[in-house]
Amino acid sequence: RADIRLVGQLPPFHAEHRPDQLAARFEGRETTYAEFDLRTNRIANRLAADGLSRGDRVAYLGKNSDEYFELFFACAKAGVVLIPIGWRLAGPEIEYIAADCDAAIMFVGPELVEKAISIHSSCPGIRTLIAMETGVSGLTGFSDWYSGAGDGAPDIALTPASPLLQLYTSGTTGRPKGAVLSHANFTEGRARMSEHDMTWNEWTDDDVSLVAMPCSHIGGTGWGFMGYHAGALNVIAREFIPSAVLDFIERDGISKLFMVPAAIQFVLADPRAQSVDYSRLNYILYGASPIPLDLLRRAIEVFQCGFCQQYGMTETTGTIVYLPPEDHDVEGNQRMRGAGKPFPWVSLRVRGSDGDIVGPGVIGEVETRSCHNMLGYWKLDNATRETIADDGWLKTGDAGYLDEDGYLYIQDRVKDMICSGAENIYPAEVESAVYGHPDIAEVAVIGVPDDQWGEAVKAIVVAKPGTSPAAADIIAFARTRIAAFKAPKSVDFIDALPRNPSGKILRKDLRAPFWKGRDRAVN
Ligand code: ATP
Ligand code: MG
Repeated sequence: RADIRLVGQLPPFHAEHRPDQLAARFEGRETTYAEFDLRTNRIANRLAADGLSRGDRVAYLGKNSDEYFELFFACAKAGVVLIPIGWRLAGPEIEYIAADCDAAIMFVGPELVEKAISIHSSCPGIRTLIAMETGVSGLTGFSDWYSGAGDGAPDIALTPASPLLQLYTSGTTGRPKGAVLSHANFTEGRARMSEHDMTWNEWTDDDVSLVAMPCSHIGGTGWGFMGYHAGALNVIAREFIPSAVLDFIERDGISKLFMVPAAIQFVLADPRAQSVDYSRLNYILYGASPIPLDLLRRAIEVFQCGFCQQYGMTETTGTIVYLPPEDHDVEGNQRMRGAGKPFPWVSLRVRGSDGDIVGPGVIGEVETRSCHNMLGYWKLDNATRETIADDGWLKTGDAGYLDEDGYLYIQDRVKDMICSGAENIYPAEVESAVYGHPDIAEVAVIGVPDDQWGEAVKAIVVAKPGTSPAAADIIAFARTRIAAFKAPKSVDFIDALPRNPSGKILRKDLRAPFWKGRDRAVN
């Protein structure tokens, strides 16, 4: 696999080495690697027959499916750029992305057909809608669309730098931005993760991977890519349903699985979580947002498998920093508070508030350079220039520091930092402290305007059902775990926290009512 430079070379490689092995299982439908290779050829040939050539674009608006991954690898073969659109996004957000991404064809999952038809008129560039399942609302069905196309491998001249996938960022700090990722981001970046000599990450073709996070996110498509790259079996969940994750683990013998912290929290809340057989689970990767330490400890206790943290972003094709299982199990291990260490081929540095690169232990904005970095943002040249310097260093927007051993400790997003008096307070640390309170189900921490201190720390809490913790009690609890100046000054209660489809808490939405008509120093 070491000479695979283009993503489209993977299906024929596996078809040659493991033709009868299963590539995917989706709701009872199974596909071998030989069938997978053949089908991706046909889809690629049909794209070409429809006039799509190198660099042209198609969008996918739907939930996860085996056919989504067939489309992904077919686009790789055809040199076409695929844009998966988050189906959980609000209507106007979907419309914005559909119009922004310049797709000629939009592939539509059965649940999204009505939505797609309604936005089609405002996206004149989209020539055709294709339904992923046949017999839906008069649209051509996906398998009918490509069934007559040729079986041979298309011959399209591509380079590792050719664009492959455009993923929109989660929109946690503002409008989602389209990050354009190349073949090399996958074949030289992500693929290397499984070949690198990291015992926690040895993939074999006996592995059974669960794709449960949405494919519009790097945690879905990027994770799925790992399984297909390894020649493993990919069990694909249409959408994330906590109890279904437990079913997959038991029934399909899942060995590897990626979940964001919010998903882990929901699975653990299922009463069955205590009694499922996890013996075939090799490890759980988690990341994409900060995880409260108490949640991590409980997850380790319940799942009884290896845990590996991932830090990265859409712009870095996902993971660039990882905290391996061996750094999880040591009593009082300080490293568990951090995100881990960069892959050996990834460079990290920290830029202090005065604009200079700082040494170990000093907090600043984290920057990174490697083959994982995106080509740029789609149609946002200024944002691209502000994010990636000419020499390739990319600004992450995250505040953090490196220790003497090169381990990275993410504090939080630069934009979410709370400036109270002369102190900088990172919400993630406060959330992690408050989360340990026995009556608290979820918590978000934000900075609200304060006449004396500029900003004051506020916790917004979802109480566990049947409990009604007092604000004063929560504040006192936090003060036993973190410095008094970091503890919340006030607590509000709410029924559910606003989250985006990646499960991230939308602190900007929680902040908005408090900052009406006022400017925040960082925003
Ligand atoms: P937007 O850029 O549109 O505001 P977003 O940054 O949430 O959205 P993503 O690319 O999905 O979009 O997320 C990347 C961010 O997620 C990182 O910059 C970081 O803030 C956060 N993150 C990822 N992994 C971790 C981790 N292990 N610990 C803490 N934060 C993490
Ligand atoms: Mg971001």
